[in-house]
Formats: sequence, structure tokens, C-alpha cells
Amino acid sequence: MTPCKLCVLPFLLLAFAVAQTPSTKEVASVYPEAHSLYLDLHQNPELSMHETQTAAKLAAQLRIAGYEVTEHVGGTGIVAILRNGSGSTIMLRTELDALPVEEKTGLPYASKVHAKDDSGHDVPVMHACGHDLHMASLLGAAEIMARTKNSWHGTLMLVGQPAEETISGAKKMIEDGFLQRFPKADAGVALHVGNLLPAGKVGITPGIYDANADSLRITIYGKGGHGSAPHTAIDPIVIAARTILSLQTIPSREVKPGEMAVVTVGYIHAGTKNNIIPDEAELGLTVRTYDAGVQKQVLAAIARITKAEAQAAGAPREPSIEHYEGTDSVFNNPALAERLKATLEKAMGRDNVVIQGPHTASEDYSVFVEQGIPSFYFSLGGADPEKFAEAKTTGTMLPSNHSSLFAPDVEPALRTGITAEVAVLRDLLNMSPEELRRLTSPAQSK
Ligand SMILES: [Zn+2]
Ligand SMILES: [Zn+2]
Repeated sequence: MTPCKLCVLPFLLLAFAVAQTPSTKEVASVYPEAHSLYLDLHQNPELSMHETQTAAKLAAQLRIAGYEVTEHVGGTGIVAILRNGSGSTIMLRTELDALPVEEKTGLPYASKVHAKDDSGHDVPVMHACGHDLHMASLLGAAEIMARTKNSWHGTLMLVGQPAEETISGAKKMIEDGFLQRFPKADAGVALHVGNLLPAGKVGITPGIYDANADSLRITIYGKGGHGSAPHTAIDPIVIAARTILSLQTIPSREVKPGEMAVVTVGYIHAGTKNNIIPDEAELGLTVRTYDAGVQKQVLAAIARITKAEAQAAGAPREPSIEHYEGTDSVFNNPALAERLKATLEKAMGRDNVVIQGPHTASEDYSVFVEQGIPSFYFSLGGADPEKFAEAKTTGTMLPSNHSSLFAPDVEPALRTGITAEVAVLRDLLNMSPEELRRLTSPAQSK
């Protein structure tokens, strides 16, 4: 008996759906390897632009999985390519670096690593941002994609980016010929784990995903002297203290209510001894905004207030204000986000896909977006679901990324990361470059 075409159709659709969503069994088959990479990376974190062992471990595993791997792209970056016939090129990116934070989670696999930072200081090192989980998830997804080449076609490009924490690694990769040496991606994907969602869920933010970030170093000049004779000196610490408080009036008094602006003074360095008034004081600032106009307004206000406070105190020189780092917000292509929301709902269930507003964090994945790679950057739940529910009831906050207590609920988060990445990659790779262009082009500009 020959079945009619219409009768076969539901089975064909079912077969496609199964192929796109990785099964629990598929994820389970790569989980032990991904988890052991996680434990290894977590116990051996490396600072930005020093990710040599991290990159080497990831590169070796991807080579074993069948990828063609190029190392040392933009310093310690890696690019791993798997070609599988004609079609689109889709990029999946992970960060490689850890942070100068002393781990206090008390976990049996907590990091005890210390290293020298770029100024030669001994610092503790911890994967306090969860980049170890991103790498483990990418490895799991990479292995499933390599084993199931019948479920997709085209070119899969995996990127291990160095120095995300200093928002400089993506730029270094571009400067090292990333766009010329490797196929240009028709679309890009990345994720970030955090405690704003419980493990098992993912968050989607169409449009602006996160904030513009600007790092400033301000040096306030005074006139040193004896602590017992302040009248002979101009105290830069007092000027710094006034400046710090005045800067807080920018978000509260100058920026329009409802617009996002954060001005944080993360450090103040001044003085050597209690009875010496130093010559100068240095402040380190991070500034976060969503809107480009607000960003300009806040940076101008910081310069105005800093100079005016110094002048009010009779400082001998105008303060120096150095803008030493910066990155634009990551822009999620809205059409791509809409499509992949449906893909993830199919893969994980509607209740596990949450729409979120923009985040105040920042990230240099924006550099890839600005090179014309329409992208989907999404959030991966990392919180232990029970602790998450408890914190919600008591109105407390779980430790955020960069905290010495940041400890994602690894097993469900990692399984979800792998599942989500494979579902998204298969969907994108099964679209032709023309289809992707048609989908993403109208909304490509911010
Ligand atoms: Zn971070
Ligand atoms: Zn991060």
C-alpha cells in the first residue's frame, strides 16, 4: 500500500523537528566530556590574554571531534571549522578568560589559582563570569554537530575569543584578519550564563541586549604636604571624595528619568601614609548606558564635574581623564531573535524560554555584530532553581557574575546550554544564505 502524500507529511515534519531538537540521549552522550572540561577549566582559570592552556585544551578537543582548528588568532584566540557541504556559515562564539577574583564558593572544585596580572601583581584567578561553562557547552554542542552531520549542512565556525573581560579580544581577532582568513559568518550566536534565571531556562532580548561600556581613568592633581599642615597643601583625596559624590548626581539629576545610566567608581588610589597629603589621586570608573545620546551626555558631564571640582579646590592642574576601554552594546537582530525564540520553545518547552529586557552588563561581542554579522546573543539560566525561588520569596539577590560566590548550577545549566546551542545551530544551518539575508537585513541597523 502506498501512503498518500498528505499522510506522509506529518511524519516528515516530525522527523525534521526531532532532528532539529537534540534528544536527551544525544546530550547525555557528550555530557561527561563537556563536564570534565568544565571542571578542568574551572580549576585552572587564566587571565585575559593569558588563556594559553585554556585555548590549547579547547583546540585539542575540537580537533579530536573533527574540526579544522587555527590557534593564536588575535593572541590566544581559536577558530574551529567544520565544513559540511554547501549552505550558510554560522558562527558560535565563547569567551576564554577568567577574572582576578578570589573564589569563596567553598566548592570542592574551587579555584586556588594565583597569577601575575599585567602590572606584575600577584592576583587570585577565578572563572567568576562563567566562561568555563560557555566553553564546556560549546564543546558539547560541537561534538553533537560533528556526529550528526546528516541533520544540517553548510559551515559551522566555532570561535574561542580571548580577553572578553577587558573588552579587547574581539577587536584583536578582527585586527588579526578574522574576517579575511576565515569564512564570513551569515549569522552569529553566543550565550551568557547568569543568576537572573534558574538553570533550565533561557532568556531572549530582541534588539539592544546589553549596555555601552566606557572605562575611564581620572587623575586628580593636588599639592602634597604634611598631614598636620593642610593649609600648605591642596588635598587631592578631598577633591576625589567630592568628585565621587558629585558624579552620582549625573544619573540621579541630569539623565532623564527612565533612561539607563550607571556611573560606578570602582577604585580610588591615593596616598601612602596617614600623615602625608599626596600629590594626586586616581579614580577608576565604569560607565554604562543603553542609548548613544545618553552615553555622550554622561561622558561630557563626568568631564565637566571632574574639572569643576578640581577648579573649586584650587588644584594646580586640570585633572586628566583617560578613556582607556570601551565597547558598544550588543544588538540582537529582532527577526532572528523572533525566529530562534520559536526554535528554542520547540526544543525546551514554552515555559523555559523567557523574554528579558536589556542587561546593564557589557560585552565586546558587539565588535562582531558591527562587522555585519547579524546575531543572536541569549541568556542561559545558571541559578539553582530552589535557591532562585527562595531568593525571590525573600526578596534577596543571588551572587551575580564577577562575585567571589558566583557558582552556577552546573549540570542543568550545561545540559540546557548544549541543547539550546544545537537547536539554534541546526535551525540556522538549515537556512540558505539568501534566506538568512532576507530574514535579517531589514532590521540590521540600530
Ligand atoms: Zn564578565
Ligand atoms: Zn562574561
